[in-house]
Amino acid sequence: MKNLEDLKEQIRKALPELDVVIGWTDSFDPLHATPHFMRKEEDIDKLKVDALCVHNLATYLPGLKGKKVGIVVKGCDSRSVVELLQENLIKREDVTIFGFGCNGVVDQTKIRSIIGDVGNIEACELTDKEVTVTASGEVHKLALDEVLSDKCKTCRYPNAVLSDHFTGEEVATTATFEDGYKDLEEFEAKSTEEKFAYWLGEMDRCIRCYACRNACPMCVCRDHCVAQSRDPHWLSQEAHVRDKWMFQVIHAYHLTGRCTECGECQRACPVDIPILLFKKKFNKEIKEVFNYEAGLDPEATPPLLTFKNEEAKIKERDW
Ligand code: SF4
Ligand code: SF4
Ligand code: SF4
Repeated sequence: MKNLEDLKEQIRKALPELDVVIGWTDSFDPLHATPHFMRKEEDIDKLKVDALCVHNLATYLPGLKGKKVGIVVKGCDSRSVVELLQENLIKREDVTIFGFGCNGVVDQTKIRSIIGDVGNIEACELTDKEVTVTASGEVHKLALDEVLSDKCKTCRYPNAVLSDHFTGEEVATTATFEDGYKDLEEFEAKSTEEKFAYWLGEMDRCIRCYACRNACPMCVCRDHCVAQSRDPHWLSQEAHVRDKWMFQVIHAYHLTGRCTECGECQRACPVDIPILLFKKKFNKEIKEVFNYEAGLDPEATPPLLTFKNEEAKIKERDW
């Protein structure tokens, strides 16, 4: 990030009034970044912001309710903050938002698929165009475009949509809503049988670890989640594909009109199940029926939290 020192200076000024500021810092190897909780002046020096800073830090906000929290956000993360504000899961006066214009983050799955074993990373250098990774003595030069997260290639909101402090220049984008749903349109062209077979195949690989749920900033029931509740016992604990699929259906329904497509669920999945595609399907329907996109307006209410039989905003389709 070109203006990292400016961002640090903004945080330095605000920190005395805050309990914590959440950003990113170096991780266990040079190819990863990790969430960073800044409480003291010296913590600020360790802040980093680059294409490795993928975590959506808004996930931590509901758990810090009642504290004065600063948070560093990319465009997509800022939409999660907006969504949490809409649902009164956090209070605006408790959150100080440090936004910036984002040029995209890497997809570690893509990197792994190119360089193979990422167990012994010795170095990683980033430029605007390239990621150079040294692993087990071998140097891999990867075009950034090749390993950029898919969501970034069609990003419509690279700049924080809401912020108290904005660092650097705004990033321009020409992406449209349709651009972000091309993969879904290809999937929708399949027959119902093909679609169902695809998801059963993917869900069969699910190990029911709930990392997708835990990484989701909008998934806030946690201990009361229907997937684990025993009283009432909504869903069997069996490792059967039927139950794994049902869990994803419930997750997607709970996120309908609330999911900002940050992609954290898919990124967290240890077996690389492409669950974002499923979430996008529901969002596309919400856009079509209600002309609504999550996480843009703190004053708005997600359509399915206001739904009435005679819905004023509903746009009838040609049924
Ligand atoms: S989706 Fe947009 S804001 Fe989010 S990481 Fe990618 S480019 Fe940045
Ligand atoms: S369901 Fe996935 S993409 Fe949607 S908000 Fe949650 S983590 Fe982000
Ligand atoms: S993260 Fe992946 S493996 Fe774990 S429950 Fe979710 S879909 Fe299944």
